[in-house]
Amino acid sequence: MLITTHTATLQGLQALPIEVEVDSTRGKPTFLVIGLAAKAVEEARERITNALGSCGVRLKAKRTVVNLAPADVKKTGSQLELAMAVALWEMTVGKSLVDAGDIFFGELALDGGIRPIRGALPLVTYAKNAGYKRIFVPAANGGEVSVIDGVQIFAVEHLGQVLEFYEGKLKLSALLPGGFCLTLATPKTDFSHIIGQKVAKRCLEIAAAGAHNLLLCGVPGAGKSLLAASVPGILPPLTREEALEITTIYSVCGLAGQGLITTRPCRAPHHTISSIGLAGGGANLRPGEISLSHHGVLFLDELGEFRRDALEILRQPLETGQITIARASGSVVYPARVTLIAATNPCPCGFLGSKKRACRCSQVEIERYRRKLSGPVLDRLDMQIFVPEVEVRDLTAARPPEAAETSADVRSRVCRARARQAERYRPLGLATTSELSSHQVREVVAMTSQARDLLARAVERFQLSARSYFKIIKVARTIADLAEEAVDEVTAEHIAEALGYRQNVSES
Ligand SMILES: [Zn+2]
Repeated sequence: MLITTHTATLQGLQALPIEVEVDSTRGKPTFLVIGLAAKAVEEARERITNALGSCGVRLKAKRTVVNLAPADVKKTGSQLELAMAVALWEMTVGKSLVDAGDIFFGELALDGGIRPIRGALPLVTYAKNAGYKRIFVPAANGGEVSVIDGVQIFAVEHLGQVLEFYEGKLKLSALLPGGFCLTLATPKTDFSHIIGQKVAKRCLEIAAAGAHNLLLCGVPGAGKSLLAASVPGILPPLTREEALEITTIYSVCGLAGQGLITTRPCRAPHHTISSIGLAGGGANLRPGEISLSHHGVLFLDELGEFRRDALEILRQPLETGQITIARASGSVVYPARVTLIAATNPCPCGFLGSKKRACRCSQVEIERYRRKLSGPVLDRLDMQIFVPEVEVRDLTAARPPEAAETSADVRSRVCRARARQAERYRPLGLATTSELSSHQVREVVAMTSQARDLLARAVERFQLSARSYFKIIKVARTIADLAEEAVDEVTAEHIAEALGYRQNVSES
């Protein structure tokens, strides 16, 4: 008698179906598992027999073979164990009780408990799309998969519950769809709390509106981290698709909490992070910080202190919005569309140009420090500005000197600019100006002749690269989109403002 149950494994964010086939024949009593890595087999066999034992199920004294098909798919994760245990149990009762429309995901504990798994959301999404009718998941993953409706999902705590369900002794109730509520991020840092920093705040608004990358250079305490932390609060609310994409990535990392992630992420990894930590990969193949920041903000403080190989890896995702991780068993692709906010001190001691403390660095040290910056990432940054020390009078003023706009005020302009971009780039299948290729910039960004002249003069005078040339046009286009009235052509004024945000931090 051959018993079959269904489960799946993940390759990157993609789920691949796995069939568990159990057969038992007369012969020396053994329990073989085929199709798993040797070490995983041993662990799985141990956990499955103990878990079944705790439910009063003894494997028959026969030769039992569990085959995980297809053989050529590399199976990762222990979420296959529940399907294996159920198939083995059916073998002992001698009949097939599981429906062909049932699928199982869960790791077993020795006492029969069902442990949470990584990637429950992409696995359940796959199962629903593949036409399965009843999906069994660990109770602890119930929250994150409750966003999926239109299919019966059973969140179970113990193997015993599943077996009793099939024996007709226990009724399980399916998860109620958790619904979907688009909440706006309540920013930890509201724009109105940041004193001064008019230029930096304007650049953050432009960065948010066009998904541009930005480098802030300034003395310690100028508020660079505070500025970066305020960006999620001025970004537009997530769409349902974006929220699902983000939650899927967090699910694969085992970081999805209860239900859908509805706010944009802001990640700030320390500069000692490895290239794998930043980009993803490793023995367990996890998405890195760049993917955990998908549709949100990646903040790299002390940019010059990051490992060069880690920064090199950021080139591709900053251009394409995704990251490819090459593996011996084939490569996987994770989404990685981020707004990069980087920060740096002006010199090793940090106080070059400060009015409050003297810089202790030699000219040689300052030059070496800046050369480190001008590496792989700097020419990918659309805007580079100096952040001044906040004036004491600004700090002590009873009220901020400029009319203190809140994050919500700024966000409404950002949303308007994004709507204009979405409309303009719909035929290209793009959402924001930063995604345009050089070719597309030529095609869709109209400029006045004065704007062209000004840009041509700047290219000659500042020896700008082709990459910088197109970045300036793109930033200018976003500046035009932030205007109250819709603007068809980029003007010299927009170009001049964009040029002002190319303060060459590495050379000045
Ligand atoms: Zn210094």
